[in-house]
Amino acid sequence: MTSVDFPKHKKAKALKPGSRRPAKELCSECGLCDTYYIHYVKEACAFINQQVDELEAQTHTRSRDLDNADELYFGVHQSMMAARKQQPIPGAQWTGIVSTIAIEMLNRGMVEGVVCVQNTKEDRFGPMPVIARTPEEILAARVNKPTLSPNLSVLEQVEKSGMKRLLVIGVGCQIQALRTVEKQLGLEKLYVLGTPCVDNVTRAGLQKFLETTSRSPDTVVHYEFMQDFRVHFKHEDGSTETVPFFGLKTNQLKDVFAPSCMSCFDYVNSLADLVVGYMGAPFGWQWIVVRNERGREMLELVKDQLETQPVMSKGDRTAAVQQSIPAYDKGVTLPMWAAKLMGVVIEKIGPKGLEYARFSIDSHFTRNYLYVKRNHPEKLEEHVPEYAKRIVGQYKLPE
Ligand code: FAD
Ligand code: SF4
Repeated sequence: MTSVDFPKHKKAKALKPGSRRPAKELCSECGLCDTYYIHYVKEACAFINQQVDELEAQTHTRSRDLDNADELYFGVHQSMMAARKQQPIPGAQWTGIVSTIAIEMLNRGMVEGVVCVQNTKEDRFGPMPVIARTPEEILAARVNKPTLSPNLSVLEQVEKSGMKRLLVIGVGCQIQALRTVEKQLGLEKLYVLGTPCVDNVTRAGLQKFLETTSRSPDTVVHYEFMQDFRVHFKHEDGSTETVPFFGLKTNQLKDVFAPSCMSCFDYVNSLADLVVGYMGAPFGWQWIVVRNERGREMLELVKDQLETQPVMSKGDRTAAVQQSIPAYDKGVTLPMWAAKLMGVVIEKIGPKGLEYARFSIDSHFTRNYLYVKRNHPEKLEEHVPEYAKRIVGQYKLPE
């Protein structure tokens, strides 16, 4: 069921913080249930009612063409490119393209507010969703909060404020719920700027990840799983620490990712107008996917501040993905010297550009497919979108 157009939308009482959510352990804390839009949860929740296909048609006028190899992986799009800001924003996750677009949209009056997520005073990674109305408030939301974040919890304020033009920045599960209720928000125009998202964690899970992986968990200000097959941590003193993916303590980290993220097949944020990530671009560059006209309009605003290059693709991911499936399943951890060696070899001969993005999508979709099959077999058929079934179908999976 896609979004419904009630003359005056129905409201229900928001759930209290900490109470069990309708999606139970699969809840990604997207924030919808913290508002009276919980009324629509059965249709809107990405983990109760997967409906990427229908919402793609609603948002982009058509769903993705499964026989087009790029659309199968990256969703409906007009164009893709690699880009970076000529003058990066200090402290942004990458070069700050997301924050820059949001600031331009606000400054030019295209929107009156921007839903984004700052951090709490006590905790640099503690998410605090806001409706930013000044460039300073948008800048204060730069950099990833690598935890589940209730971005949609501010939706009630949108309607109450009487705002008519809004930009929402968010990850796939938040955007799926948003698309289902968007007609109820009383807006004249909604723009959606998405980022890809994978392997997210609760705040407690993040602590465990930092403690098992970084040499100095308390001073990490920023981290990313990068295209060179290493996790890059940036510390308070400006120093960088890298840990090869293959050296991660998978046996200890197996349960660290949120069950929602182990069940997610919308890595590339299929329902955003414009997506800004990094995984389809060369190392150091960001990856941009323009899905529709609104997305093109948004990117146009900042084009003169960007250096761009066409997307490229090199290598063959399939053998590496097939090998990663049983290794993850058994929680194999390589000794650090072997992990470093493997990292170096893979970086030299491994997949690059769009092929790296396919590597990451394939390894996460196969892992997540097995997770849903084992933990929620009754959901498997309906919850896994057709494109993901085709992607997973290329590999041999253990029982
Ligand atoms: P900035 O200008 O620093 O802005 C970052 C924006 O992200 C801010 O506006 C903020 O509101 C928003 N944000 C921060 N944390 C969250 C959150 N938890 N939920 C929703 N919105 C948030 N890209 C890939 O290509 N592959 C990946 O595997 C990948 N994983 C990601 C996982 C997470 C949890 C997140 C939040 C993002 C991920 N990204 C991934 C996107 C990538 O890391 C960058 O966020 C993106 O390239 C934008 O960089 P920037 O410098 O332009 O962003
Ligand atoms: Fe509600 Fe969002 Fe959790 Fe689904 S994921 S139960 S919509 S808060």
